[in-house]
Amino acid sequence: MKQPYKIPLQEIPPEGREYTFTEKSGELNQELKDLLGTHSYHIEIFIKPQGNIFEIKGSIKAKREFICSFCAKDLEKEVNESFHELLFIEKKPLPRKSHSSQHFSPQGEQELFCNYLGSSDFFVGSYFHEIIALAEPYQIYKEEACLKRQCPFYKEALKKGYISSVITDENKVPENTHRPFSVLKKLKIKT
Ligand SMILES: [Zn+2]
Repeated sequence: MKQPYKIPLQEIPPEGREYTFTEKSGELNQELKDLLGTHSYHIEIFIKPQGNIFEIKGSIKAKREFICSFCAKDLEKEVNESFHELLFIEKKPLPRKSHSSQHFSPQGEQELFCNYLGSSDFFVGSYFHEIIALAEPYQIYKEEACLKRQCPFYKEALKKGYISSVITDENKVPENTHRPFSVLKKLKIKT
């Protein structure tokens, strides 16, 4: 098995450095495979040191395979995320409860999320694995009809046993109510 791709942060010059990763360049293919399969993706990042803090800006565009929450049909969705965060090298493990104080604002203008790294190696694959995983929508469906269980695949999926006819509490949650897991979107803690 290949070693996960990493960027030695200490080698980045003061003016910063740009990186691009795609399925063709291949560095992250293995680590993102469980989420993106063999779909194409385009990742761009720019990392700039500020002392032992590193500013990271970038975007990811990709396609991802999902299964309809209602009829179990395969579908493809776009992942389109951009981000602006900080990487902070911290060798000592941090107490678990300090999450709320993990926001820095270097220029005092914008609060950036801070990722704590255990060493000066930045593992790009696991970072993006998390970004992609957190971008997953709460309910995934192929078409409006799926929501009403009127799509052509619903009966078929029932017959084949892919789904059960019992509507669970989770499926009953209407679109606009509080989503208990939406809070996870804000949590991107590195360990
Ligand atoms: Zn459907």
